[in-house]
Amino acid sequence: MIIAGRCAIESREDAIQAANELIELRNNGYKIHGMRGGVFKPRTSYKSFQGLGEIGLIYLCEAREQTGFPIVTEIMDGGDIELFKRYGVDVWQIGSRNMQNYSLLKAIGETRGEIPVLLKRGMCSNMKEIEGAIGYLGDSGLVFFTLRGLQKMDYGNSEIRKLMECMKHQNPDYRFFNDVDEITTVKNLVKSKEHVVVGFDPSHIAGNWQYVPQVAKEAVEHGANFLIIETVSEKEYGRKRKCDGEQGLTPLQLARTLGECVNIHRNYIKE
Ligand code: PEP
Ligand code: MN
Repeated sequence: MIIAGRCAIESREDAIQAANELIELRNNGYKIHGMRGGVFKPRTSYKSFQGLGEIGLIYLCEAREQTGFPIVTEIMDGGDIELFKRYGVDVWQIGSRNMQNYSLLKAIGETRGEIPVLLKRGMCSNMKEIEGAIGYLGDSGLVFFTLRGLQKMDYGNSEIRKLMECMKHQNPDYRFFNDVDEITTVKNLVKSKEHVVVGFDPSHIAGNWQYVPQVAKEAVEHGANFLIIETVSEKEYGRKRKCDGEQGLTPLQLARTLGECVNIHRNYIKE
C-alpha cells in the first residue's frame, strides 16, 4: 500500500495541489491508497510552523472529496479526539514522539472503535516498547505500524561516522539511523495480531529527497506492507517548505520510485 502527500498542509491550494498530483499518478496506473497531510505538527522549536490546525482538516476533507483518497493526519492531543471524529479523519497518525505517550495511546485506544491508526516507531524504542504501545490501541481497528528510523548521535566527523559508512543500509548523511533491518523483527513480533500491518517511512530516515528512493526500495525488499512518503510539488523542487521540504519527492520522482518498488515487490512475493 502507498500513502503519499505533504508533511504539512500549508494552505487550501497546497492540499488541493497535493491531491491533484496523486490523482494524476493514479490515472497513470500508480496505485495510491491514501493521502497524508499534517495539520498538527510536533516541532522541535516552538518558533517553527505548528500546522494549520482545524482549518487544515477542512482542506484535507476537501481534498478527500475530490480524490476519494482516505486521509491520514497526526493527532497529538487526546483533546482533539472529538475533532478527529467530527471531521471523519480516516487514519489517525500517532507520531514518533508520542509512541510512548501512554495517556494519549490509552485515550485513543478507548475511543477509536474501528478507526485505523498509523502508529510510528518511537525514535529510541525497542521491541518490548513497540509491542506495548500497540497493545494500548486495542484490536478493534487496523494498526499501521510504521518504522521511521532511529535517533542518531550528533557525531560530526567522529569514529561513529566512519563506522556508519561501513554499515549496510546506513549512510551517515541520512537524517535518522535506517531501521529497515527490523521490518522482519517487527513483523514477527506482531505475527499473531491480524489487525497490525508493518510499513515504512523512507522520507524521515533519508531526510533528503536524493536518498528517499533507495531507502524506499530497501523497505520493499525487506517486506514492508506499506510505504508512507512525503511529496512536494514540481515547482517547489529544491525549495524550502515550512516543514520537511528537502525530503519531499516531486510527483515525477515519486512515480519513478513507485515503478521501481513494484518490481522489487513482485520478487519479494515470489520468494
Ligand atoms: C511526520 O510524519 O511528518 C512526522 C512528524 O513523523 P515522525 O513522527 O515519524 O517524526
Ligand atoms: Mn514530516
